Amino acid sequence: MSSTTNNSDRDHIIRQWRDLEQSDPAIFEAILGEEDRQRRGIELIPSENYTYPEVLACNGSVFTNKYAEGYPGRRYYGGQEFTDAIERLAVKRAKKLFRCEHANVQPLSGSPMNQAVYMGVLNPGDTILAMDLSHGGHLTHGAPVSHMGKIFNFVRYKTDPVTHRINEEELRALAHEHKPQMVLCGHSSYPLDLDYSMFTRVAKEVGAVTMADVSHIGGLIAGGVLSNPFDHGFDIVTTTTHKSLKGPRGGMILCRKPFRLQINKAVFPGLQGGPHMNAIAGIAVTLGKALKPEFKQYAQDTINNASTLAAELSQRGAHLVTGGTENHLMVVNTVDSYGIDGHVAEETLDKVSITVNKQIIPDDPLPPMRPSGIRLGTPAPTSRGFGQAEMVQLAAWMDDALKGHENETTLARIRDEVEELCLRYPVPGL
Ligand SMILES: *Cc1c(COP(=O)(O)O)cnc(C)c1O
Repeated sequence: MSSTTNNSDRDHIIRQWRDLEQSDPAIFEAILGEEDRQRRGIELIPSENYTYPEVLACNGSVFTNKYAEGYPGRRYYGGQEFTDAIERLAVKRAKKLFRCEHANVQPLSGSPMNQAVYMGVLNPGDTILAMDLSHGGHLTHGAPVSHMGKIFNFVRYKTDPVTHRINEEELRALAHEHKPQMVLCGHSSYPLDLDYSMFTRVAKEVGAVTMADVSHIGGLIAGGVLSNPFDHGFDIVTTTTHKSLKGPRGGMILCRKPFRLQINKAVFPGLQGGPHMNAIAGIAVTLGKALKPEFKQYAQDTINNASTLAAELSQRGAHLVTGGTENHLMVVNTVDSYGIDGHVAEETLDKVSITVNKQIIPDDPLPPMRPSGIRLGTPAPTSRGFGQAEMVQLAAWMDDALKGHENETTLARIRDEVEELCLRYPVPGL
């Protein structure tokens, strides 16, 4: 890649922000407001993170201007010297990081990424065996409200109420009964690692394709602290790039060679037009960083922080679904722990500048907008530099706030303490 940039002239970057401030103050102020909100509060939504300053730069770069329909070397528009270079780099890094034979880095986000796989590998009406939503599965795994839930026949497996694991015999029985074309695993609110070999064993018996959606834990797999489905013979793995991987918003489909063409055609022209090249530049940067030893440390710290937070909350009497965590997230049953539903818990923690999301628990008796729990995760606070001591403090604050949710004086005191701590740990990129 060659460049003829005049290195002394970078004033345009400052000028862009000045132009925005003058031409659209409402949006400019909202960006400053959001920056301030992120600075002052503790972000515990497990699917969120702080991306790298370099990724913010890529997102705001002139790659935003470029159409690049097709794939490197085979595009439908001219002027692809630099787009080809960044996409090739992103693909090469993805393959190395996840030890896989093929990578497609064009999906615009997690949902289109999964849609592309289903449409590329299966036929409408085919059966997919997937994890129950309330046990940790994702909307895109065939929730009745999703389009995919209308096009494919999703059959659900659950976790065992005692071991909290997926029971191989139950999975096998469902597989033999329903003869799925695909066995899908993956989750967004399940706090344990998966035994991937169990899925490949069962899928083989019924001739099904195996797919793992590791959207939440892509960074933890890349960092080597959770199992990699490809080490257990999986065919296809999907992941978002903006969660534990810390990249821009986007998705990647990783697969074994035989699925390469089906997957590429399903993404483009099957589902999408022009890829977002500014995001792909950021994905390449993200994957480059994930290949470095520091990222392994980040992944390990994220897990260590989660287990400390879970242990501290439990010690203070919180009831955690599965009793703890093996990854970056945990689900707290707030009804059992504090006598309040997840909606009230979320609002209470908002008042003390701790951001979480309400969460349904397995076979939740309460409705989704007022479910029985909340979900907490450590990718964002770990990116900010929080360690064990901060997790202990955080558990104490959350416990005090949730137990004293009607005491405005307590809440105001905690909010001041939270914000004071946050100002000592700058948000990356700000
Ligand atoms: C977040 C997530 C997705 C969807 O990603 P979006 O970018 O929000 O569309 C898909 N699957 C799982 C398991 C997820 O956690």
